[in-house]
Amino acid sequence: MVVGDISTGTDVLVIGGGPAGYTAAIRAGQLDLDVTLVEKRDLGGSCLNRGCVPSKALLSGTKLAHEGSHAEEMGIEGELSVDLGAMVDWKDGVVDQLTGGVAQLCDSAGVNVMEGTAFFSGEHEARVMHGGEGEGSEAIEFEHAIVATGSRPIEIPGFSYDDEPVLDSAHALALREPPERLVVVGAGYIGMELSTVFARLGTEVTVVEMLDDVLPGFESRLARPVTKRADGLRVEFHFGQAASEWRYAAAAAEGQAEVNGGSAGDGESGESSAVGDGIVVVTEDEDGETYEYPADAVLVAVGREPVTDTLELGNVGLEPNDDGFLETDDQARTAVEHVFAVGDVAGEPMLAHKGMMEGEVAAEVVAGEPVGLDYQAVPAAVFTDPEIATVGMTEAEAEEAGFSPVVGRFPFRASGRALSVGDAEGFVQIVADDESGFVLGGQIVGPEASELIAEVTLSIEMGARLEDVIATVHTHPTLAEAVREAAANARGKAIHRVNR
Ligand SMILES: Cc1cc2nc3c(=O)[nH]c(=O)nc-3n(C[C@H](O)[C@H](O)[C@H](O)COP(=O)(O)OP(=O)(O)OC[C@H]3O[C@@H](n4cnc5c(N)ncnc54)[C@H](O)[C@@H]3O)c2cc1C
Repeated sequence: MVVGDISTGTDVLVIGGGPAGYTAAIRAGQLDLDVTLVEKRDLGGSCLNRGCVPSKALLSGTKLAHEGSHAEEMGIEGELSVDLGAMVDWKDGVVDQLTGGVAQLCDSAGVNVMEGTAFFSGEHEARVMHGGEGEGSEAIEFEHAIVATGSRPIEIPGFSYDDEPVLDSAHALALREPPERLVVVGAGYIGMELSTVFARLGTEVTVVEMLDDVLPGFESRLARPVTKRADGLRVEFHFGQAASEWRYAAAAAEGQAEVNGGSAGDGESGESSAVGDGIVVVTEDEDGETYEYPADAVLVAVGREPVTDTLELGNVGLEPNDDGFLETDDQARTAVEHVFAVGDVAGEPMLAHKGMMEGEVAAEVVAGEPVGLDYQAVPAAVFTDPEIATVGMTEAEAEEAGFSPVVGRFPFRASGRALSVGDAEGFVQIVADDESGFVLGGQIVGPEASELIAEVTLSIEMGARLEDVIATVHTHPTLAEAVREAAANARGKAIHRVNR
């Protein structure tokens, strides 16, 4: 211990105040444990401040404006304009309200919230470096530690986030003016959600993706309606290309007069690339051919990596795996008995609700409760247009797991509610075991998919059969009826579609 240091002790030290960490801290407080939560930046973590909530706020705002401007069929005329600065202020207000709420909840649960950056200094000791000048540091002794330090955007060679035109998702969500042209590197869920936001704002969006489709990990039949709508917003896609570098267009333009054809999708290497102001993003395909896309900014959204490198894990006897994650058992416990890891730092899927579930379980395990984690029904949602949501097994996964799956489907174009909200693209798909009827999974693309998936999630969690879903009376007219009809279709008895 440094001489003159303050040293405090706590039952549970939570490092990181994102959804996983604050949930662990609040639950531990509710269980009468003495808890200290250390957060170096903002309570709420990436999710509330720079991720889930801000992106969904801007998706909702731009959706309202876009749909309002394209509703002639409903007899609505006129073009709505968006003041992005004002929308960002509104979004920041939503974030402040939620992060303020987290602070209050921590307070009510008796959590001692401490500002600073924590790292391990011994088996049962951490050091917290306070941010402000001259504020120093202090040591904290703990019985148990819960690591919830989250993740950060991956930086790719040639694209430093320190360079102004290179944006990570947090920067993109804070822009007060939409760029005229934006290249998005990566067509995963973050790249696709932010492409949707900016395309709706009138930005010319070009998406480059190394793989051969959008939204890797989701069935292509789910992704298809999303690319179709994105095409309608004039988003350009270039697959099988990796971004290799960018440069200012002025530099590329020296002595050249022609505008590069990259924005039309054919700007191959060697062509002239004078674009006036702005930048040029260079990509390369697997044959080594290069392409150039003019833009005003480039958003790099190629994934996130866990934050474990700043924790001095060796001092507590831990080591991250090759991908930087902390491996845990089904009680969120690491290889060291009294240290837990929750949220993004503990591995995929890097989703807030998965982290919150782990946070709750870790706190309860510390309190001696006989609980464990169950990952069979962890939903995932992509808030594109239309939304995609999945949970449990696909048909192929069910087969691989030894089930004889039966699949039921219901298209939204046969849903009275979907038609009456003017959004009838997509379908609900439900996967069950044919013999027993147990619901194994669900895949939805269409309006409110992120909400509808909760019914399938609950079905899996409760061990419901297709017959239970069919026997449940659903309100009419609602989108949720599509889930019941999909279950009925799996048994050949949907009413509002021809059964096959
Ligand atoms: C643009 C975007 C959109 C997203 N949308 C969704 C969505 O719709 N749904 C969804 O489920 N997920 C979404 N996510 C993912 C979600 O944000 C993460 O899964 C979630 O935030 C993980 O929570 P966490 O608590 O593990 O980590 P984080 O939220 O990253 O929080 C970790 C916290 O730890 C703090 N910290 C780090 N190191 C230290 C240290 N040494 N000392 C003290 N504090 C430290 C950090 O400052 C941070 O506040 C999105 C992410 C992004 C970027």
